[in-house]
Amino acid sequence: MRNTKNIMDRRDFLKTMAATAAALTLSCNNQKHKAVERKLFLLRYDTEDENPEKMDGFFEKIVEVHRKYQIPATFFCKGRAIEKRTSQFETFYHEIKNDSLFDIQDHSYSHIGIGYARGKNIRILKADYEKSFRLHEKIFGTRPIGISICGTRGEDGPKLSGFDATEKSRAELDMLASLGVRMINSFLTGVDGAKEFVNYSSIGHPEIMGFPSGYSDTAWLYRRKFGDPVNYIFAQCEKRAQANEHMPLMLHDWCAWTRAYDKELTHVIKIADFARKLGYKMTTHIACYEQKALWS
Ligand SMILES: [Zn+2]
Repeated sequence: MRNTKNIMDRRDFLKTMAATAAALTLSCNNQKHKAVERKLFLLRYDTEDENPEKMDGFFEKIVEVHRKYQIPATFFCKGRAIEKRTSQFETFYHEIKNDSLFDIQDHSYSHIGIGYARGKNIRILKADYEKSFRLHEKIFGTRPIGISICGTRGEDGPKLSGFDATEKSRAELDMLASLGVRMINSFLTGVDGAKEFVNYSSIGHPEIMGFPSGYSDTAWLYRRKFGDPVNYIFAQCEKRAQANEHMPLMLHDWCAWTRAYDKELTHVIKIADFARKLGYKMTTHIACYEQKALWS
């Protein structure tokens, strides 16, 4: 009897262990899946103002606020701004280079247009990005792998539907890939560039991540197109959260510094706090790139 009971106990024990292991594996898989599926908030600053006097104090405030509230952000830095505000960028980079809250990427040298119907020729575009990347290497000691597309206000004609739209725009992406670019705005025909991560395998570049981009502060903060700026973004966050969608937020250094309510980045703090309460995970672009399951 005793032996039989022991055997039964052992069998039950093994069964329970097997069930526990299965449950744990399932839970781990779900966790992994969840980590990928959790909706992301991509806050970025296109960092492009060329006037050191006007931008005095901006980077110091950025470091203070983003560290205090632990808000990750990506800074797409324009080469000519780096050139004109060298000591500000140097000090900033020295301060943040080992801090994963801050991600430094590129925004071309001269704010040149990529993906437009009447854009500059490939040789000029390439030279512009090369010049900017060289400045990154000189001042920061690192080469960017990400760029955010510059708005050129009609001077290059209308924006195309994506890099897949014309032979020239495909060649533009090939050129960027050859410079080592591995992340850029989601820009493919039929893809909502304000919502989705993509890769560019359909046009030969599975190694490049496309990231969602939208809600430029030039519209809601500078031009005040939608009433109270922060309330407008709150409403957009709520809408996105309800639809279970990622939320990009495109800020500009000059707008955040000279067009907001104060020079304390109060609007950024409020928006980050609100997004977190809605369940958003705030992240940098490079952290998204490293999370391959998100886009590849
Ligand atoms: Zn810009």
